[in-house]
Amino acid sequence: MNGLMMDMPLTIASIVEHAERINGDGEIVSVTADNPRHRYTYREAFARARQLGDSLTQWGLARGDRIATLAWNDYRHFEVYYGVACTGHVCHTINPRLFPEQLVYIINHAEDRYVFVDPDFVPLVEGLAEQCPMVQGWIIQCSADRMPQTSLPNAICYETLLEKGSPDFQWPALEERDACALCYTSGTTGNPKGVLYSHRSTLLHSYATMMPDALGIARRDVVLPIVPLFHVNAWGNPYACPIAGAKLVFPGSKMGDGETLAALINEEKVTLSAGVPTVWLGLLAHLKKSGQRVDSLERIIVGGAACPLSIMEDLDSYGVSTRVGWGMTEMSPLGSANAGDSERDKYSTEDYARLRLKAGRPIFGVEMKIVDDEGKALPWDGEAFGSLLVRGPWVCSSYFKLEDSDAHEREAGWFETGDVATIDADGYLAITDRTKDVIKSGGEWISSIEVENAATDHPQVAEAAVIGCYHPKWSERPLLIVVRSSDGQDVTAAEILASLEGKIAKWWMPDAVEFVDELPHTATGKVQKLKLRDQFSGYAFKA
Ligand code: ADP
Repeated sequence: MNGLMMDMPLTIASIVEHAERINGDGEIVSVTADNPRHRYTYREAFARARQLGDSLTQWGLARGDRIATLAWNDYRHFEVYYGVACTGHVCHTINPRLFPEQLVYIINHAEDRYVFVDPDFVPLVEGLAEQCPMVQGWIIQCSADRMPQTSLPNAICYETLLEKGSPDFQWPALEERDACALCYTSGTTGNPKGVLYSHRSTLLHSYATMMPDALGIARRDVVLPIVPLFHVNAWGNPYACPIAGAKLVFPGSKMGDGETLAALINEEKVTLSAGVPTVWLGLLAHLKKSGQRVDSLERIIVGGAACPLSIMEDLDSYGVSTRVGWGMTEMSPLGSANAGDSERDKYSTEDYARLRLKAGRPIFGVEMKIVDDEGKALPWDGEAFGSLLVRGPWVCSSYFKLEDSDAHEREAGWFETGDVATIDADGYLAITDRTKDVIKSGGEWISSIEVENAATDHPQVAEAAVIGCYHPKWSERPLLIVVRSSDGQDVTAAEILASLEGKIAKWWMPDAVEFVDELPHTATGKVQKLKLRDQFSGYAFKA
């Protein structure tokens, strides 16, 4: 017997309609090239998204056609998210930090019909446009008086385009399983792969991220997403905030600028922010130098890579609590969150320090298991390492235009994350490595992430990476590669190794330390271990 409840599709247009009615006065503040503080309300934002939607329908595109963006976190990009998805098209957000050849590959693979471009990226796309024959037009995100001189074929001014549409435009009826957004993985091995989100997956993920033990987004919040709109939908913030009625603050091109971030936090009274570990390093460096504080900021969500304890403890001293989140592009992205901060009193100082490094507990909607090489499920005892598999309504079932490939599926119905993890009896997940980065010494796994975490605790270590190098007896042993901090140029290998004692298992102790000026990073800010392994291939440990 079916239940007798209404069958309302979970579509992104429903966020617009809810926010216009219920949260219309909620504010969006943006930093843009033409305005250091553009501000308007959700009501105005969605009126403009409707204008955009109306203008797009005049292009004669088919449902599901891809429309791309190459843009910063600002209000115009937010409008494109909604204008494109709510008219039945797919908003394909592209990471401008990718190599030009990857950009060309992605635009052609997605068959993007139009591309919305921030004026900052016009020179970049001018060099690519000829290689992207399917693109019919390039929309520059600015007003008519700011249109740059450009060689782009069919360059269209964003504000002029908007003027052609009506703010009363009505969205077409869509199915909840229709695609709404597309984001490519950064492709550290092979070509980038497209993750195609649906309206339904996006809405369910938005609800989940708002839960108190996840990001806990409420109407009283002022949210500063320092995670880009061009990478996994800024962790869902652009959808969750209008649902909750939280104020949104967009930092534009200033995501890496500690001074602007501090100013935005203080002036706009930001309560919650989200970003990868390096963002917080930048903010903390500015706070230390300037003596400024960020008193309104209550909590941050950090993810995308393991967060060193030193960052969390520094943030503690500013009264900011840190929550680690784990996820990936293929998971929309959120899979787990560490809300240990809300149970701080339950733990001793040492246990709390250990707990907060973990990636947290699965959020409702994401199922997890860890398996061994034979695919056998491993116990949740916090000790057994295994390959992490996940499933849920916002986890990708296959990649765009690779629907017949099951490369990502080690077991039917489960997505293989490519991460190696432990899970403890309380359900706390700890990511120990990427599968391909695992170090196997004498047949046993060493967690490079735990050794890196311990190394970055040393005040004179700015960044650290551990890779496995050939060893005649153990087959592989860990090599620690360190970037010294600016005031730590004299720190020695022996001092760093001594600081690891007691923090990691004895046999995890790196056999050597090498110093470099910088580590190679991917376009999403992760250390490129593959490159490091190439750089140190043939490395011989001294006897
Ligand atoms: P993201 O937007 O989270 O960076 P990506 O798809 O680019 O998404 O990268 C996902 C990968 O990043 C994960 O599979 C994992 O290896 C790593 N990662 C994400 N969050 C964490 C975390 N909290 N701790 C350790 N690694 C993480």
